[in-house]
Amino acid sequence: MQRIAVLTSGGDSPGMNAAIRAVVRKAIYHGLEVIGIQRGFSGFVEADMGPMNLGSVADIIHRGGTILRTARSEEFKTPEGRAKAYANVQRFGIQGLVVIGGDGSFKGADMFNNEYNLPVVGVPGTIDNDITGTEYSIGFDTAINTVVEAINKIRDTATSHERTFILEVMGRESGYIALMAGLAGGAESILIPELRHSMDEVCEKLIRGYKRGKLHSIIIVAEGAASGLDVGKQIREKTGLETKVTILGHLQRGGTPTAFDRILASRMGAKAVEMLMEGFRKHMVGMLEDKIVAGALDTAFNGKRPINMEIYNLANILSI
Ligand code: ATP
Repeated sequence: MQRIAVLTSGGDSPGMNAAIRAVVRKAIYHGLEVIGIQRGFSGFVEADMGPMNLGSVADIIHRGGTILRTARSEEFKTPEGRAKAYANVQRFGIQGLVVIGGDGSFKGADMFNNEYNLPVVGVPGTIDNDITGTEYSIGFDTAINTVVEAINKIRDTATSHERTFILEVMGRESGYIALMAGLAGGAESILIPELRHSMDEVCEKLIRGYKRGKLHSIIIVAEGAASGLDVGKQIREKTGLETKVTILGHLQRGGTPTAFDRILASRMGAKAVEMLMEGFRKHMVGMLEDKIVAGALDTAFNGKRPINMEIYNLANILSI
């Protein structure tokens, strides 16, 4: 193998730059050439790509977002779009592809491999941490730290005013951000899309807390479980408590990656290059029990990652 390409796809996540850096530098270290593809599969289809060198990835390890930029490409979902991408594979002499993104991006890479047999390795990059086959995806740790920082600030004002605060966080189909940030931030209730929640129970818990002298309450809602505004309204109506709603939105996507995410991205990016050199053809990198491992690419999108009930139950017990 002489020349590989790298792209970032789907939603951006903090640490993607550290992963790009690792792919480029590890590949060059082993004498490979690297093509950087801009705007995910869109750039793949449109030949928006060019060679990268050691300097192309200088001074990016600490930056959020992705220097290669990212996109969602409808054209790549069509056979015609993928045929155009393959023409670019031939034109640029690409012999392997690293795709940094979420399960949708892995699905696209899987389909491309099925049709054109180009070796592909997926590196999980999404703040949602919803990818099966890895315990952590790049960007998740930064995102939950951003949420925890917000909880800390809200706690200060919540205590001063004896109010109930509702914080809506990202996670359309996955409650991992809500769950882990909720545990770390000491939230009273955590509402996630994987479980059914009774607003009556949430309200009973709130009242119990205030009766025994709690000065504030914080409820974390994953956007896929309910709208924060709706939860606030229901609590107000059912309990008469004053509620304030904060929707964190895209704040959670940005920011400088944490040390954890930079280390994870560096290890995973380097592993992806090793895997291509070793002849892996349709695989993903994962982190399982603190080891960086190779897994089948379709692990990521065949089956949904279950929520960790042990942690959910613990968060409930600790916020009693
Ligand atoms: P995030 O978790 O941040 O949403 P993602 O990788 O899951 O990231 P998607 O929008 O689902 O994001 O997928 C990114 C891109 O991957 C799509 O825009 C499309 O170009 C490609 N893709 C997704 N599914 C397929 C598919 N079934 N066939 C071909 N390409 C696909």
